[in-house]
Amino acid sequence: MNKMMQWSALALAAATATGAYADASYPNKPITIVVPFTAGGPTDRVARDLAEALRKPLNGVTVVIDNADGAGSTIGMAKAARAKADGYTLLLNHIGVATAPILYRKLSFDVTKDFEYLGIINDVPMTLIGKPTLAPNNYKELAAYLNKEKDKVNLANAGIGSASHLCGLLLQSTLKIPLTAVPYKGAAPAIADLMGNQVDVLCDQTTNTTGQIEGKKVKAYAVTTNKRLTTPSLKDLPTLQEEGLKGFEVTIWHGLYAPKGTPADILKKVNDALKVALKDPEFIKKSENLSAVVATDQRITPEGHKAFVQAEIAKWTPIIKAAGTFAD
Ligand code: ASP
Repeated sequence: MNKMMQWSALALAAATATGAYADASYPNKPITIVVPFTAGGPTDRVARDLAEALRKPLNGVTVVIDNADGAGSTIGMAKAARAKADGYTLLLNHIGVATAPILYRKLSFDVTKDFEYLGIINDVPMTLIGKPTLAPNNYKELAAYLNKEKDKVNLANAGIGSASHLCGLLLQSTLKIPLTAVPYKGAAPAIADLMGNQVDVLCDQTTNTTGQIEGKKVKAYAVTTNKRLTTPSLKDLPTLQEEGLKGFEVTIWHGLYAPKGTPADILKKVNDALKVALKDPEFIKKSENLSAVVATDQRITPEGHKAFVQAEIAKWTPIIKAAGTFAD
């Protein structure tokens, strides 16, 4: 073996050992995105729309969704963390990546160490909605009702660490009104039960609630952003800050991840594809129709994404600790 061949063999062995060696033809078979919530909900909606937009820049391969739901997204995150780091399994999750380490005493994964960060996808407002037969017709009436009927009112969520849980937690601690939580494995079954008058109140992303608000299948009370939304069907909803809930602001973001150890050249291909997908006019239009804002800033880079998640963990830690809810 000459010197050059020896060097190549050594480099190949080292790269294989560290998992850094990639198949140059990647991707050449379907890619799975693990979505840690139920099908038909807001995280699933973002994932399915993104999967379509990713197809073209990823050599035309199919991008399929695996709904690994339950436990406020921690089951799906654990599944993705353990998956083969070959670029064929990715994870799409929302703010749960930042809230799970604060809310759960024990997790089988570490969000800062067990994932490669690929980029933030979007920011999504939330809406405070009620079942069709709930008596209050606007936020002020709702606040009075929650105060008077607190022992009877239940608040649906998609599990501890979900966006709906976070929003509900903040609502209860800001209003100082404890309500009974009803956890689901995702917002799809939660909103289905809300529309069926089985539960009373839900705070959920506009990507799940806009259609139901437009169809008058739920009552809408407020938005969680600090400014009113511009989407025609939601623009008349007040912000919770306008309604006197000082500092109340919850905006949900979604990000794309790969298991730790995925080869760098594969990560680059996926991040490049993500950047193309985020500029896809069809993806942007679908997002805008549901008040979601597609990311364009430095958070669409792996470093920007990771720094943002760290900042979100720092931002939410004191708020969640003050609300005092934890899970095992
Ligand atoms: N986004 C929902 C939540 O966190 C869960 C889901 O996507 O189904 O409340």
